[in-house]
Amino acid sequence: MASVTIEKRSAWAQHITHNMSDPNRPANTFIARYSMPPMESSREWTPWKGGFFIHYMGSRGSFSPSSEIDCRKRIAEKIFPNHWRDSGDIYYNFLVCPHGTVYEGRGYERGEANGGARITVGGTSLGRNTSFYSIQGMLAVEDQPNNAMLDSMRNLMFHLRYEASDTKKAGHLILPHSAGWNTKCPGEHLTQHAKRGSRIDPTEWAGGSRPVPEPVDRTPQLRIISRSSWGARPPRSVAKVSNAERTGFVVHYSAAGPDQTVRTNGCW
Ligand SMILES: [Zn+2]
Ligand SMILES: [Zn+2]
Repeated sequence: MASVTIEKRSAWAQHITHNMSDPNRPANTFIARYSMPPMESSREWTPWKGGFFIHYMGSRGSFSPSSEIDCRKRIAEKIFPNHWRDSGDIYYNFLVCPHGTVYEGRGYERGEANGGARITVGGTSLGRNTSFYSIQGMLAVEDQPNNAMLDSMRNLMFHLRYEASDTKKAGHLILPHSAGWNTKCPGEHLTQHAKRGSRIDPTEWAGGSRPVPEPVDRTPQLRIISRSSWGARPPRSVAKVSNAERTGFVVHYSAAGPDQTVRTNGCW
């Protein structure tokens, strides 16, 4: 059975070096913000209709990290800042380093890495970012993907296709970023793997008998962000009230400016 360990955003975000939203503020507030789980996108997200686009870093020469810290710094100092200026977050859903470590980027939320609007596959038009996860192999132009990276990509895709919740499940397609888009990504060494039936396709490896997930309707969901996810401390005191004693609702609003976080913001 496949298993995949996904390192949370905080693993790389703690290596962000400065506050890009306000240079006058310390880096740690920025680090805290991007260490939190990714925000849900307001755009449509139907990954079960498509599947995966595969990417590489594409930087010149070779990426030869001497430790896992090098991989994390690479994401925090090079990849994230480039994407942040354009989108306010990292583009990729997941990144897989040469050690085989899987890093969360946008995670299970819609990313924006795949370029362009739509791609037609088998007569069906699909949104490139609407219906596909993006997975980046952290390779420079000259680098070959090693077994650790390829195995982790396959385990990750197995997880997203068969184990993720229904509204986040990935479809059966595996495409190179260059499919329908003018880019060399994911490079000559990884492109050969970015297709169905390849070394990284989890289908055969899963026994070949597992059905491709059925499409599901994504009905609007109530989504409650836990306290720990937005960094709140536990309550100092709690007054218990039974449901029978509850007679209605009080509705509050946030009077704070858009630059204030939930923590610094109150309803006065
Ligand atoms: Zn790409
Ligand atoms: Zn690594």
